[in-house]
Amino acid sequence: MTTQPIHGLSNAQLVERARELLPRGHGVARRIHRQVMLEGRFEPEGFGLGPRASGAWRSAFSFDLPEVVTVQSDQGDHGATSKMVLRLRDGLEAESVCIPMGRGRNTLCVSSQVGCKMGCAFCETGRMGLLRHLSADEIISQLLVARHRFGWPIRNIVFMGMGEALDNADNVIQALRVLNDDAGLAIGQERLTICTVGHLEGIRRLRQQGLKRLNLSISLNAANDRLRNELMPINRRSDLARLQQVLMEYQPRRNFALGVNYCLLPGINDTEADARAVAEFCMPLGRVLVNLIPYNPGSTPLTRAPEKVEVERFVRWLRVEGLPVRQRVTKGRSVMAACGQLGNPSARKELRALRTVRA
Ligand code: SF4
Repeated sequence: MTTQPIHGLSNAQLVERARELLPRGHGVARRIHRQVMLEGRFEPEGFGLGPRASGAWRSAFSFDLPEVVTVQSDQGDHGATSKMVLRLRDGLEAESVCIPMGRGRNTLCVSSQVGCKMGCAFCETGRMGLLRHLSADEIISQLLVARHRFGWPIRNIVFMGMGEALDNADNVIQALRVLNDDAGLAIGQERLTICTVGHLEGIRRLRQQGLKRLNLSISLNAANDRLRNELMPINRRSDLARLQQVLMEYQPRRNFALGVNYCLLPGINDTEADARAVAEFCMPLGRVLVNLIPYNPGSTPLTRAPEKVEVERFVRWLRVEGLPVRQRVTKGRSVMAACGQLGNPSARKELRALRTVRA
């Protein structure tokens, strides 16, 4: 019997699996699940079970958090932005970033894949290609390590680390279930955000889940097809008109506001005409909030980081067009933890070496 990672399951799912697998001792499933999720421990022996029953729990379920390879922090005005690199079961690495939001609250930016196949031109992860999807338990592990190994008080989760979340929809939707589980981690939907480059099938699937208070944001970055084709290859398959149509249909609740992320690239997408095109794209979408993200140059920069005046000017143009805009403060740039900077372009080479050694 192979062991199943316990932290990839919701409380109700664990109860069901335990009932199937453990004729004796399944009655403590609810409490074991809460111990794992809320205390980061899996100790079935502590629930009054005899050695055989606790042994059966350990044979049926596992709880192994990934090893922490490195943690690097960058001190900012609101506190430290910390990037952790975690080593997964097969030796590959996933990165997560803890971002301070003020008043002692933090957002954890989690990865959903190792690498990414979307190939966005401004993104370090895109240069890795897709190595593999993360399983639901590997996604949840990032939160459990942040809370229980480092004691970071994580309040919000954004799926904006390595990978296109909706390219790994099955595991991401399962992870959302576990995060939002009232009997477990109990993170409200309004504190969870899925970010996508515009994966149309994934957006439709997300809509079918009926998660009415979940946040969704799209990475727009260019509002004309010619430029978006260059920056984001997904646009060649599903252009802006199709993306707009799917987003118009998304609307999970009456007061839903779509997040529209726009990475400002000086000399590439920062003219007044670009700002007007963003407004035209957003007009039929109902309520939106534009997050303006100054470009963070990676190891092979596409351009330089924008000056403060250039960011302010673009924000002004968007506001003149009637768009609500939030200017994202860059955090974690010095430790390659800022937007678009996650990833290890040499990971593919390292994976090949790892497989050769094991063969
Ligand atoms: S921006 Fe997101 S979707 Fe695009 S390559 Fe990077 S990780 Fe993938």
